[in-house]
Amino acid sequence: MSTTESKKSYVTTVEEALCKACGYCAESCPKDVFEPADHLNEQGYTPFVAAHTENCIGCLNCLALCPDFAITVEEAEGAAAK
Ligand code: SF4
Ligand code: SF4
Repeated sequence: MSTTESKKSYVTTVEEALCKACGYCAESCPKDVFEPADHLNEQGYTPFVAAHTENCIGCLNCLALCPDFAITVEEAEGAAAK
Protein backbone atom coordinates (compact mmCIF):
# COMPACT_ATOMS: atom_id res chain seq x y z
CA MET A 1 0.00 0.00 0.00
CA SER A 2 1.43 3.31 -0.96
CA THR A 3 0.76 6.47 0.95
CA THR A 4 2.87 8.52 -1.36
CA GLU A 5 1.00 11.42 -2.89
CA SER A 6 2.35 13.10 -5.93
CA LYS A 7 2.32 16.73 -5.00
CA LYS A 8 0.89 18.79 -7.78
CA SER A 9 2.39 22.10 -8.56
CA TYR A 10 0.81 25.01 -10.35
CA VAL A 11 1.96 27.93 -12.37
CA THR A 12 -0.06 31.09 -11.86
CA THR A 13 0.36 34.02 -14.17
CA VAL A 14 -1.26 37.43 -14.46
CA GLU A 15 -1.70 39.13 -17.79
CA GLU A 16 -0.57 42.47 -16.47
CA ALA A 17 -2.05 44.51 -19.29
CA LEU A 18 -5.56 43.31 -18.35
CA CYS A 19 -5.25 43.89 -14.60
CA LYS A 20 -7.14 46.78 -13.04
CA ALA A 21 -5.55 46.37 -9.63
CA CYS A 22 -8.77 45.56 -7.78
CA GLY A 23 -6.84 43.23 -5.47
CA TYR A 24 -9.52 40.52 -5.40
CA CYS A 25 -6.91 37.92 -6.29
CA ALA A 26 -4.74 38.81 -3.33
CA GLU A 27 -7.75 38.88 -1.01
CA SER A 28 -9.00 35.50 -2.19
CA CYS A 29 -5.73 33.62 -2.32
CA PRO A 30 -5.10 31.44 0.75
CA LYS A 31 -1.42 31.20 -0.08
CA ASP A 32 -0.48 34.85 -0.60
CA VAL A 33 0.62 34.22 -4.15
CA PHE A 34 -0.18 37.72 -5.36
CA GLU A 35 1.61 40.99 -4.77
CA PRO A 36 1.33 44.40 -6.39
CA ALA A 37 3.99 45.06 -8.98
CA ASP A 38 6.42 47.94 -8.69
CA HIS A 39 5.34 49.50 -11.95
CA LEU A 40 2.25 50.62 -13.84
CA ASN A 41 0.69 48.76 -16.71
CA GLU A 42 -0.37 50.34 -19.96
CA GLN A 43 -3.78 51.18 -18.49
CA GLY A 44 -2.13 53.14 -15.69
CA TYR A 45 -2.86 50.62 -12.94
CA THR A 46 -0.38 48.95 -10.65
CA PRO A 47 -0.93 45.36 -11.72
CA PHE A 48 -0.80 42.43 -9.38
CA VAL A 49 1.72 39.73 -10.15
CA ALA A 50 1.94 36.09 -9.09
CA ALA A 51 5.08 36.69 -7.08
CA HIS A 52 4.87 33.41 -5.19
CA THR A 53 3.34 31.02 -7.70
CA GLU A 54 5.32 28.18 -6.13
CA ASN A 55 2.89 28.36 -3.20
CA CYS A 56 -0.21 27.89 -5.37
CA ILE A 57 -2.44 24.95 -4.42
CA GLY A 58 -4.72 25.21 -7.44
CA CYS A 59 -7.87 26.23 -5.55
CA LEU A 60 -8.84 28.59 -8.39
CA ASN A 61 -10.31 31.21 -6.05
CA CYS A 62 -8.42 33.84 -7.96
CA LEU A 63 -9.73 32.73 -11.33
CA ALA A 64 -13.28 32.84 -10.05
CA LEU A 65 -12.95 36.36 -8.68
CA CYS A 66 -10.81 38.20 -11.20
CA PRO A 67 -13.27 40.46 -13.05
CA ASP A 68 -10.87 41.01 -15.91
CA PHE A 69 -9.93 37.40 -16.69
CA ALA A 70 -6.32 38.33 -16.24
CA ILE A 71 -5.25 35.22 -14.34
CA THR A 72 -4.17 31.83 -15.62
CA VAL A 73 -3.53 28.84 -13.38
CA GLU A 74 -1.95 25.83 -15.02
CA GLU A 75 -1.09 22.52 -13.50
CA ALA A 76 2.58 21.72 -13.87
CA GLU A 77 3.13 18.03 -14.43
CA GLY A 78 5.85 16.64 -12.22
CA ALA A 79 8.16 18.59 -10.02
CA ALA A 80 9.51 21.74 -11.47
CA ALA A 81 13.18 21.39 -12.19
CA LYS A 82 15.35 23.91 -10.50
S1 SF4 B 1 -5.39 29.04 -7.50
FE1 SF4 B 1 -5.73 29.48 -5.29
S2 SF4 B 1 -3.70 29.25 -4.34
FE2 SF4 B 1 -3.37 29.43 -6.55
S3 SF4 B 1 -2.99 31.61 -6.89
FE3 SF4 B 1 -5.20 31.27 -7.22
S4 SF4 B 1 -6.16 31.68 -5.22
FE4 SF4 B 1 -3.95 31.41 -4.87
S1 SF4 C 1 -8.31 40.09 -9.46
FE1 SF4 C 1 -7.57 40.32 -11.60
S2 SF4 C 1 -7.87 42.50 -12.08
FE2 SF4 C 1 -8.02 42.28 -9.85
S3 SF4 C 1 -5.93 42.73 -9.10
FE3 SF4 C 1 -6.09 40.50 -9.39
S4 SF4 C 1 -5.33 40.09 -11.48
FE4 SF4 C 1 -5.79 42.27 -11.32
